[in-house]
Amino acid sequence: MIVHKFGGTSVGDAECFANVADIIVERHCDANGAVRGKTLVVVSAIGGATSQLIAGARAAAAGRDTEYREIKAELLSRHLAVVDALLNHRPARLEVGGLVEDQLHSLERLYRSIAVLGELTVRGCDAVASFGEQLSVNILAAVLRDRGVRAQALSGTELSVTDDNFGAAAPLMDQTRQRLQERIIPLVERGVLPVVTGYIAATKEGVPTTLGRGGSDYTAAILGAGLEADEVWIWSDVDGILTADPNIVPQARTLAELSYTEAADLAYFGADVLHPKTIRPVTESGIPLRIVNSFNPAHLGTLIVETPSPGRQLLPAIISTTGLTMIAVGIQDDTWTLQVAAGALQALSKAGAEVPMFSQSFSEHSLNLVVREQDQDHCLNVLGRELSEGCSLGTTEKVATVSVVGVPGWNETGIVSHAFAALGKHGTRVIAVAQAATEYSVSFCVPEDQVADTVRFLHRELGLERVGQQT
Ligand code: ASP
Ligand code: MG
Repeated sequence: MIVHKFGGTSVGDAECFANVADIIVERHCDANGAVRGKTLVVVSAIGGATSQLIAGARAAAAGRDTEYREIKAELLSRHLAVVDALLNHRPARLEVGGLVEDQLHSLERLYRSIAVLGELTVRGCDAVASFGEQLSVNILAAVLRDRGVRAQALSGTELSVTDDNFGAAAPLMDQTRQRLQERIIPLVERGVLPVVTGYIAATKEGVPTTLGRGGSDYTAAILGAGLEADEVWIWSDVDGILTADPNIVPQARTLAELSYTEAADLAYFGADVLHPKTIRPVTESGIPLRIVNSFNPAHLGTLIVETPSPGRQLLPAIISTTGLTMIAVGIQDDTWTLQVAAGALQALSKAGAEVPMFSQSFSEHSLNLVVREQDQDHCLNVLGRELSEGCSLGTTEKVATVSVVGVPGWNETGIVSHAFAALGKHGTRVIAVAQAATEYSVSFCVPEDQVADTVRFLHRELGLERVGQQT
């Protein structure tokens, strides 16, 4: 069996849905339309929908009724536009359109209850976030059926069993395996193609959970491992894992083969195309993972295996993330203790906000927290509530992180000193630094408006444009 996972950008609009359906049909069926092999599809919410859903829940909790109603209306029109464009004049249009409307009515009811309570728990936030994938699976399954594939939409809440760590739940593999045996195997044996929601799962009592933002990749790996799939393919919008973001550095090179450990490292530093937890389930079962481009399906992308071929080229990678802001937690007098830092991080974790990077300075008695821009107000509210009186909170301009991740053996001295030298030469303003205790990787927080130039300069300075052909 092959598990194919499609991310939010791959299903951004009607045209993208149609493209994804083409890719699936081509892989699942032969030229005569007969089923070629066992396939399972995992799909994310349409691009941006999860962030909007969460923003709506926060607006509801804060009593901003108009805002959550607008979000609901926008989601409705975006999903119906896809349904109208792809299932126009077909009976399926009415059926799926009706389903989308029902789901969004339920969402509005949930928003209203949050507004009445005036409080949003992480559990409530998961319940809201789970709507995005539930909407996209129904649409994709209907489009596939319309093309003659026996596709069936399934919710991850019935398949992936997790603990109750809402916002970042962990799978319970034995119970998940059992569910997959009961629900998925009989379907695929009959030639049905399951289209499963990524990112969302449920506790064994059936309470919806999520696996953390970007978690659809993780779902694909969990289902792949649970079903002993032959391969897991992660379809995104770039040609695999590259030496830099190709939107910034068009000459960036694809890393053709990586080991599980190398890929996990890159993912932990924020390589957008792969959720960091994706590697673990496939490593345990030795299942090859491919990162491929749904907008360029002929490209081989990146293959991630236990033991890559010995002749492959070793290249470092630059990973940049934008859409972030920094919150500085400070204290006026000399009462700074580790508890202040621990309290801030704990409060954010409990409130379901991820902190992609943080650093503490020795001299300033302050903690720098890098958070997503869309989470900033939520984080400031939480910190304002949870931290003691003497603490001050400040925000800076928009920031970005740039991580340089090397591989042992690329050169003798590691990559950290090269990266610092390059930034110095370029004159990038470095706001904060975080480094693991190895010389293989380092992360910088820089002003967002300097990120593109900095990444381009680093890519050149590290010699990544000169190395031999590897695409
Ligand atoms: N829809 C979820 C998110 O935006 C999961 C994913 O896309 O992988 O975080
Ligand atoms: Mg992703």
